[in-house]
Amino acid sequence: MIPTVMPNYKRFDLAFEHGEGLWLTGTDGRRYLDFGAGIAVTSLGHSHPQLVKAITEQAGRVMHVSNLYQVPQAQALADRLVAHSAADSVLFCNSGAEANEGLVKLIRRAQYKNGHPERNRIICFEHAFHGRTLAMISATGNPAYLEGFGPTVEGFDHVPFNDLDAVKAAITPQTAGILVEPIQGESGIRPATPEFLQGLRTLCDEYGLYLGIDEVQSGMGRTGTLFAHEHAGIAPDVISAAKGIGGGFPLGAVLAREELAKHLTPGTHGTTYGGNPLACAAGLAVTDVLLAPGMLEQIARVGHAFGTMLDALVAEMPEIFDEVRGVGLMRGLHCRVPVGSLVSAALGEGLLAVAAGDNVMRLMPPLIATEEDCQEACTRLQRAAHALTNNQEKNA
Ligand SMILES: *Cc1c(COP(=O)(O)O)cnc(C)c1O
Repeated sequence: MIPTVMPNYKRFDLAFEHGEGLWLTGTDGRRYLDFGAGIAVTSLGHSHPQLVKAITEQAGRVMHVSNLYQVPQAQALADRLVAHSAADSVLFCNSGAEANEGLVKLIRRAQYKNGHPERNRIICFEHAFHGRTLAMISATGNPAYLEGFGPTVEGFDHVPFNDLDAVKAAITPQTAGILVEPIQGESGIRPATPEFLQGLRTLCDEYGLYLGIDEVQSGMGRTGTLFAHEHAGIAPDVISAAKGIGGGFPLGAVLAREELAKHLTPGTHGTTYGGNPLACAAGLAVTDVLLAPGMLEQIARVGHAFGTMLDALVAEMPEIFDEVRGVGLMRGLHCRVPVGSLVSAALGEGLLAVAAGDNVMRLMPPLIATEEDCQEACTRLQRAAHALTNNQEKNA
């Protein structure tokens, strides 16, 4: 019989009943060190007092009013995001896919209003991930996500990642903009080179295109800067954010330059929940912590140290791991053994990690992680790898 919860996820047989900081307690009574953070979402860890307080207080006052009225919490959060990014204006929504939909709509609408209705195609990249809505599975372009869901949404062209010549060759009179992850997350923590991102900026300027950056996974402090594209020193035209922005409360955002944002006049776009007082209270609490003096620097420092620890692990166990990828606290370990078996072995050692494409194990702890937490994760990872090799030897 069909389960009452649809079977579209492959889940571990494990539930959690409580969390504090980086630690989760399972219904099995065991404690788990959380280096998955609910797929880069619980940026402040579990039960962070400031986030819990903000959500409880706001829920007790007013949760939702709709966008028919002023929402001071959204105003405050938008002011803050604008002050700390290249953007001039923010649109709130509820998820990463919805943020990317908004990003693409902004790009198309701006080209249309600029007198270029023919410019409606977006250049995307191989191995990208932009979400699961009808348009975003087309933007993602992964055949496995598209199969059986046609007709596909038109308007997305795919070229190899980190290949500027391929991008240039793909630009046509119909091209409206480019959508790129500064670090491809789902497909295996593959960073764009700074030169590539800088080159995209130059191409956009040269051809009158808009540069859209998908920061849903890499943004909100994960790499030690508020947004990962900052490492390349570029200013995008439009940025999408979600995952970590609400610390576990569903919230997404599209941050755009005025040139694009000004075209979203009343009636052109909308969402019922988007940017409601409760979600934005969560976003304010998260950004209170992230933007406090020294916090991004701390993430960068811990993330760098974590990278060094992972390098040592790879050097020590070259038969299991062969490469460390990523920046800050957005890390991937390219594995020589099937990543699924390693993630399961890590679970057995009380460490939560997330499998990604290309046989990569993703390690993305809450951003409050310390060097000691990272050391503990590496110790458990090493034990997991040993357990796996011992098992393999036994079975051989
Ligand atoms: C997770 C993710 C998305 C989709 O976000 P949802 O909240 O699941 O819709 C989009 N882009 C990137 C880069 C992501 O990592």
